[in-house]
Amino acid sequence: MKFPEIPKRVDWINTVFLLMISLLALVAAPIYLWHHGMDGFQLGMFIFYVLATGMSITLGYHRLFSHLSFKAKWPVRLFTLVFGACAFENSVINWASDHRRHHKHTDHDDDPYDISKGFFWAHIGWILFKTLPEPPLDNVADLRRDKLVVWQAKWDKVIALTVGLMLPAVLGYLHSGPIGALGGFLIAGVLRVFVVQQCTFFINSLCHTIGSQPYSTKCSARDSFVMSLVTFGEGYHNYHHEFQHDYRNGVKPWNFDPTKWAIWCLSKVGLASNLRRVPHEKILLAELQEARRRADAEMARVAASDDAAWRESATKALEALNERLTASYQELERIVAEKVQLSREAIDRWSSEIREILSHIAELKAQRLPVAA
Ligand SMILES: [Zn+2]
Ligand SMILES: [Zn+2]
Repeated sequence: MKFPEIPKRVDWINTVFLLMISLLALVAAPIYLWHHGMDGFQLGMFIFYVLATGMSITLGYHRLFSHLSFKAKWPVRLFTLVFGACAFENSVINWASDHRRHHKHTDHDDDPYDISKGFFWAHIGWILFKTLPEPPLDNVADLRRDKLVVWQAKWDKVIALTVGLMLPAVLGYLHSGPIGALGGFLIAGVLRVFVVQQCTFFINSLCHTIGSQPYSTKCSARDSFVMSLVTFGEGYHNYHHEFQHDYRNGVKPWNFDPTKWAIWCLSKVGLASNLRRVPHEKILLAELQEARRRADAEMARVAASDDAAWRESATKALEALNERLTASYQELERIVAEKVQLSREAIDRWSSEIREILSHIAELKAQRLPVAA
């Protein structure tokens, strides 16, 4: 396991807290469930808290406050600040500052959860060990102008303890007495904190490890449908790193991105506005550029073959694909320059053209490099 060279110390508060949450979630919560089971009330409370705190991180902390990918009225900001605090992931000022540095320095030393320092570091190590000197909060001046954000930074721990842990216990008590209180604390409180935290941590670790890179290979971020299922749509991390100010992470209509749908719904009832979208043409250009990079890489691989006949036919096939890619790229560049609005059908046509070229490249790549006898 590789750790950063910079001086570091154990952050005892974070370490002890995460240890206790993990122990209670993995030992005490199952024992409780074994003895008392889970009634509809406890299940409803657990689901509500997972959705409210999880989405407050993805919709609020991430897409709204860190990336300003849309504007939101105060009820949305207040809700996501209160329930975001209940995820025990620090105040939004700290979270957004770390996250903005992550985007600015992805895969490098100044990236707080730099995956090149290893999976463990990106997942949780960066929380357990302090990075010294602690980086300044010099990239969140805009957030400090929001009175609600400043209020949350002052009270986030109190909110987290009262609304995040005590309230489920009180509600459980009102519903079914002391056993209900224990259940509320352990299930909607502790187990939920554990689940939401681990899913958020996966965005920094697994989303930089598994999946595809259809938009760019400039950094380690990857797109993964599986990861989108456990991160409220944040699994399309390759797209997100390429176009971080888009309110969508899963940009294709078929992508599973509940956070995107929630923001869109909020905009329809007047609670969100100014939703930022990258134009389709720019997205297609990024995909074409990435396809060209793949074709070039394949060309270099083919050139290393000793089998002259195979090399010649594979090179010809790749040159034809490259020609198609270049023609498409130039035409799209012209469309962007002339600010032509693409129709839905045209976008689908471009998308299927890119998919087809990529599958030809993948077919060639699947062929083993023949070696002359
Ligand atoms: Zn990332
Ligand atoms: Zn981001």
